[in-house]
Amino acid sequence: DARIEGYDPELAAAIANEARRQEDHVELIASENYASPRVLEAQGSVLTNKYAEGYPGKRYYGGCEYVDVAERLAIERCKQLFDADYANVQPHSGSQANQAVYFALLNPGDTILGMSLAHGGHLTHGAKVNLSGKIYNAVQYGVDENGFIDYAEVERLAREHKPKMLVAGFSAYSQIVDWARMREIADAVDAIFFVDMAHIAGLVAAGVYPSPLPHAHVVTSTTHKTLRGPRGGIIVAKNATEELTKKLQSIVFPGIQGGPLMHVIAAKALAFKEALEPGFKAYQQQVVRNAQAMANTLMQRGYKVVSGGTENHLMLVDMIGRDVSGKDAEAALGLAHITVNKNAVPGDPRSPFVTSGLRLGTPAVTTRGYVEADCVDLANWIADVLDNPKDEAVLERVRTQVQAQCRRLPVYGVQA
Ligand code: PLP
Repeated sequence: DARIEGYDPELAAAIANEARRQEDHVELIASENYASPRVLEAQGSVLTNKYAEGYPGKRYYGGCEYVDVAERLAIERCKQLFDADYANVQPHSGSQANQAVYFALLNPGDTILGMSLAHGGHLTHGAKVNLSGKIYNAVQYGVDENGFIDYAEVERLAREHKPKMLVAGFSAYSQIVDWARMREIADAVDAIFFVDMAHIAGLVAAGVYPSPLPHAHVVTSTTHKTLRGPRGGIIVAKNATEELTKKLQSIVFPGIQGGPLMHVIAAKALAFKEALEPGFKAYQQQVVRNAQAMANTLMQRGYKVVSGGTENHLMLVDMIGRDVSGKDAEAALGLAHITVNKNAVPGDPRSPFVTSGLRLGTPAVTTRGYVEADCVDLANWIADVLDNPKDEAVLERVRTQVQAQCRRLPVYGVQA
């Protein structure tokens, strides 16, 4: 049997169950989204079969004339989307894009200054458990008592440690980063300014969050979060010197990767085309309005939101001092078909496996058509569960409400 279902019923069931889960659970993980059927189609295409080491027009394999078209489309659209004059669309993931930047521009033992994981940064920004924190001397900055990046501390740390690279960008920060201020700090100590815009790339592309490209020497992103494309990474830059371009090109291939994933690159080309449509701006504006509606409702219900609200697609609910931990909250909400992730919050007394926080994001629900009123309902149900995480009747009632909301606004139109 040529189809998965007839050949491998066990795996087919896992895929079908995941499709059903995506339809009848509400997805609030801030780093997730639903790629379009076209993006899924490109990833399931015969481009999967093609080896294409090298770059368009300069490959180490024959038969690359058609995949070259796909990669050139991806590069050109990516540059247009971010007003960049350099783009590499080959990184397999966000982590590999970051690794490429580090390997291209640093030597082992060099000092980097990045945002700490515990305050909203990413593992790859110098966390001890990640190679970025093992290979380099990583110094970490964080947020102040109000939950905003402490630029004075960033500057103080920069002057004290003289990093070779300042890293900005985040996985759990709900405010606008002052890219110009960061660049000034980097310039004051002659550091390279690198921004990882993975979380906000879609907002940046749509012009609803300030672009780091005019300020940073180099920028990376994933393509699957707010950008709503396939899982993958990119590296972009504006006013890149020839030297920087050469270093970045040769570190991605042959430095750290072999054959590019041409089916994923084709899907990136499609996602960039979709992001260039006028509707994408409206979508990203709605993402932010939905996040603000949710944050406001949670705060009205007495829940603390780090930094007092959100200016982007995500928020951190701070439950320090409450009986319910992030881990318990994640589990209780899961029973009510609301998918979230526990997240450490600044000053968290609980371990990273337990935490006192939740990270909530609206890119996925907005893709399925949620507007502010839906997000207000959802936030109220979340508060109902957090108020009564062990009350079976509450969980049952919220699950029923969530399922009805999901059926009204299907993802791919598959009936749950
Ligand atoms: N950078 C940031 C800011 C992220 O939030 C993430 C993922 O969560 C990554 C990089 C890593 O991306 P990937 O999972 O594709 O390696």
